[in-house]
Amino acid sequence: SRSYLKIVDVPFFKADGDQVTSADVRTVMGKSHLASSFTLAHSPWVMRNSHRANTATVWFDVLDSQSGATAKHLINTSFQFGPSSCFVRVARSHSGVPLCQRCWRWGHSTRACRSQAPQCPRCAGPHTEAGHCQHASCCRGNPSVKPPQDPTPKGAPCPHATCCVNCKGDHSASDQQCPFWRHRFDRTWLAEKLAPSSLREGLQEISQKTAQEERKGRRALNRRR
Ligand SMILES: [Zn+2]
Ligand SMILES: [Zn+2]
Ligand SMILES: [Zn+2]
Ligand SMILES: [Zn+2]
Repeated sequence: SRSYLKIVDVPFFKADGDQVTSADVRTVMGKSHLASSFTLAHSPWVMRNSHRANTATVWFDVLDSQSGATAKHLINTSFQFGPSSCFVRVARSHSGVPLCQRCWRWGHSTRACRSQAPQCPRCAGPHTEAGHCQHASCCRGNPSVKPPQDPTPKGAPCPHATCCVNCKGDHSASDQQCPFWRHRFDRTWLAEKLAPSSLREGLQEISQKTAQEERKGRRALNRRR
């Protein structure tokens, strides 16, 4: 099992003026007295808090037990970045990088889709998945080829090979057996598969969503006081 955590308000610029990198975070973690108490699952991910912010959020995941004992141990501890003590907080893990259910690309949510028309997750054609059998060339049938190709009967599933728009595998992009689903929290893996702009947009959405949740949580706490 893995737990998702973040370090908040990390200075984005180091003393020498350079931007803080994932390698710097590893160094800081390695020097910490907490170093022996956790193992990173992936390289930490540094994200500047906004275009002009001088702080960043560092996202990281650790190998953990089912009960999340390691995360519990780390939450509210701090890592020392230069003169700043930066706190570890829980990162909501249920979101992952979003999958658009309109164009079926990873990196933005359906609401943020800029695609001109919905795309089919089975064949990337300009129709919805429900309209696939009616509109896709594989299912429409073709009486002029030899032997003539029968259309797929109405209501029957498409019996033809599928080409996932994301991984080219023989499944629909909406199918959770697609490797993207398994890796949707894995920034290192995604960085190799997605365009940098898509990944950046996806992570931005995650951090916005997390910030919203945190604001909500803080409001709820304040009300209780
Ligand atoms: Zn989209
Ligand atoms: Zn289709
Ligand atoms: Zn078909
Ligand atoms: Zn796939």
